[in-house]
Amino acid sequence: MNNLKQYLIVPALIVGFSSLQAERFFGDPPDAHNPWAVHDANRPQPPIVEPGANYGDPPSDAVVLFDGTAASIGNWHHLRPDDKRKQDWLFKDGVMQSVRGAGTIATEQEFGDCQLHIEWAAPVEANGSGQGRGNSGVFFLDGMVEVQVLDNYRNPTYPDGSAGSVYGVMPPAANALRPSGEWQSYDIIFRRPIVRDGQVLDSGRLTVLLNGVVIQDSTPLEGGGGYKQRQPLDRVFPEKGGLRLQDHGDPVRFRNIWVRPLRPRSLDGGTDGRLSIAASMAKRTEIAKSIRSDAQSLTGVDKALRLFESLVYHENAQARAEAEQLLRAYLDKFAAASVDQVDAYRNKMLELDRMLQYLKKHYFIGDKHEALAAIDRICKEQDWKKR
Ligand code: MG
Repeated sequence: MNNLKQYLIVPALIVGFSSLQAERFFGDPPDAHNPWAVHDANRPQPPIVEPGANYGDPPSDAVVLFDGTAASIGNWHHLRPDDKRKQDWLFKDGVMQSVRGAGTIATEQEFGDCQLHIEWAAPVEANGSGQGRGNSGVFFLDGMVEVQVLDNYRNPTYPDGSAGSVYGVMPPAANALRPSGEWQSYDIIFRRPIVRDGQVLDSGRLTVLLNGVVIQDSTPLEGGGGYKQRQPLDRVFPEKGGLRLQDHGDPVRFRNIWVRPLRPRSLDGGTDGRLSIAASMAKRTEIAKSIRSDAQSLTGVDKALRLFESLVYHENAQARAEAEQLLRAYLDKFAAASVDQVDAYRNKMLELDRMLQYLKKHYFIGDKHEALAAIDRICKEQDWKKR
């Protein structure tokens, strides 16, 4: 058919594969719990987030809750009704400060699982002792659980009420406080408990960094804790709620507060990670549909490749039949090509081979599929090296 000798003296036509094409032939295929293949080029890219210029600065997707401007005060409200409180929290010099009797403040917006950055400072003059020095607190989900704010710098108190404790549940792993009056930072990753029909599916977790030091590391919430009491492990938490800052009678200052909602866990409707069989199969069907829809914009062998690819996620007899028919047409077209046209088929033929080898390896086509042998023969005749 084609003249091999003549072919050898023609300099090899180097056509660069885009990295995406090269990556499209991925690792282990989707399965009952994983809707994506390993290294799957069809998987959406992670969203781009511009980090802050300096550590602690809000990234581009953060919800800024307090940035020192008067406008950002509007992101908070007092929980105690106006006629029941004599004073408001103070706003001065770009800082919010708790005031005895003003009560707790809460965000206008509600959050569920989130990353929270917050900076706080106890009074420079360290009055009081134990729990009575620089006490405030960061609460999640309308007060269900508290990360303690306390000036226990050289001021011992009960450990599960120290700064950065999950109050009443777990002491911080270290006391990394700066001296009284200095600014301290918390970076908190909060995951709410998920309880369904009395079954604790996830106990919820808190990770806390105090001044960059890990002091809680995926600490289970154990129902959320509280003053002098344990909570039932199957206590039901809302999906979302306000973040709160406590007035515990001490003038504690706050600044630079921002939050980022976290991607949902697979238990919570997320489609990353190990899924239930039902969720994985539903997602696989959706991915296959999207690939087949993309295939409609293609023709010939490119369409065949995309349709074959869709079968890895979800079988579809019509898509398979069309892919097979386009594949046969492509091989027929090659067989009829003239010697000087052959070279143009090289890269696509090798791509097709990689796809079919992948499908064979993972049992999406039989190992006796006629195209496998046909392409093998073509590659040998043309001296096309498979990768
Ligand atoms: Mg407190």
